[in-house]
Amino acid sequence: MPTKWTNWARNQYSNPHKIFRPKSEAEITEIVSLGVAKRLKVRPIGNGHSFSSIGLTDGFLVSLESMNRITNIDREKLQVTVGAGITISDLNRELHKIGFALPNLGDIDTQSLAGAIATGTHGTGIEYNSISSAIIGIRIATGDGTVIEISESRNSELLGPAKVSLGALGIITSVTLQCVPAFSLRILEFTAKLPEIISRFKIEELNADFVEFFWFPHTELAEIKICNKVASANTRTNKLSSFVTDEVIRNFGFSLLNQFWLQFPNSVNRTMNNLIKENVRPERIDASYKVFCSKRRVKFLEMEYSVPREYLFDAFDEVRRFIEGLSFPVTFPVEVRTLCADNIPLSMASERKTGFIAVHLYNRANSKDFFTKIENIMEKFNGRPHWGKLHNLDSTKLAKLYPRWTEFAETRETLDPDGHFTNPYLERVLGY
Ligand SMILES: Cc1cc2nc3c(=O)[nH]c(=O)nc-3n(C[C@H](O)[C@H](O)[C@H](O)COP(=O)(O)OP(=O)(O)OC[C@H]3O[C@@H](n4cnc5c(N)ncnc54)[C@H](O)[C@@H]3O)c2cc1C
Repeated sequence: MPTKWTNWARNQYSNPHKIFRPKSEAEITEIVSLGVAKRLKVRPIGNGHSFSSIGLTDGFLVSLESMNRITNIDREKLQVTVGAGITISDLNRELHKIGFALPNLGDIDTQSLAGAIATGTHGTGIEYNSISSAIIGIRIATGDGTVIEISESRNSELLGPAKVSLGALGIITSVTLQCVPAFSLRILEFTAKLPEIISRFKIEELNADFVEFFWFPHTELAEIKICNKVASANTRTNKLSSFVTDEVIRNFGFSLLNQFWLQFPNSVNRTMNNLIKENVRPERIDASYKVFCSKRRVKFLEMEYSVPREYLFDAFDEVRRFIEGLSFPVTFPVEVRTLCADNIPLSMASERKTGFIAVHLYNRANSKDFFTKIENIMEKFNGRPHWGKLHNLDSTKLAKLYPRWTEFAETRETLDPDGHFTNPYLERVLGY
């Protein structure tokens, strides 16, 4: 009896033949073998936080939510091995308890580790990389019913491709991560006129550890978030004040506003300009993972493209001009981040210093034309789409954007030559 599955944003649905929640590698290999025997595709899934159709299947859907523990700690080398289904939030907390941390994180922590790395989930920092770059070992259950171990010393040629795999190489059962000592971040956030924010971003990009900014469409204002590693003690947070800012204003209030704006789109301009003002938030110091990640409860749809860093502001200007020319309201900020180049074949920052531009719409807004037009702009700047976010590119275009594309294709040929783990999304983006 097929069961219904939907993602976080509620824009993707499927009816998997069956959903499995295995507790061990042995169970996973049995599920894979059963799928192969029944000629049903097998699709690993995380917490459904991708906006793209990457997780859809009418075959077997396999969630590793029960494989969520740290199974080995090497305190000397600061390395941990962990069940691939652990959420980033649980992982952060467990690492913190043993004095470890991940070097960099994205905006939220509700994804599974396997899901986050499979799509190249990233934060910001021109000297830093995505979460996948912390991987030093990985175990994958493949279509022939075996589990392959991959690390610098075993099957090392598969390690790069396995770090961002789109769930196309098999089911990742566990991951070994190179951590860093737990650290605190001092965060400075302020809202000012866009040109001032852009100048400050360009300075801080080279000086601060992590910097990003958000431009509020229909206003002249943007907010910058500058984070630096510090040795000082964490500041005491006023829990009530954080609750009011983060939950009441940024989540609940924003949700109500979006429902209102859906009915009265002409009021967006005025309300935005009345609500968003130049301001500086009090500086605070907290554990890195608490500063990197925040709660996002209002459902939205997102497209994010990476462009070579040198094109970042040309691309941003075009996006801004396009949005300013719309009669249609864009109620979510446009987010700008950067990342250092890496050598992972399917990473959005593969072999190039990268700038990211992310655009969002309320999930009940009519979004089709908007995202297509943003995509047309990004294509002019050799943009690469986030694998877990909305995009329409296919393998012909994508292959030209990734210098190490063949390396990934060859790995897939080795690990899943018959496409046991494929779905229509992978057929489009990878060619089968
Ligand atoms: C509110 C919100 C904020 C976000 N912020 C950011 C951000 O700051 N930066 C960023 O880069 N992205 C961000 N994203 C995107 C998100 O990080 C990615 O889409 C991520 O893949 C979601 O993780 P998940 O566990 O939900 O995976 P899913 O969406 O469930 O799955 C994603 C992929 O992972 C594969 N997968 C899952 N488990 C396994 C496994 N065990 N073995 C092999 N493959 C597996 C699936 O097959 C699928 O291909 C955000 C998304 C949301 C909804």
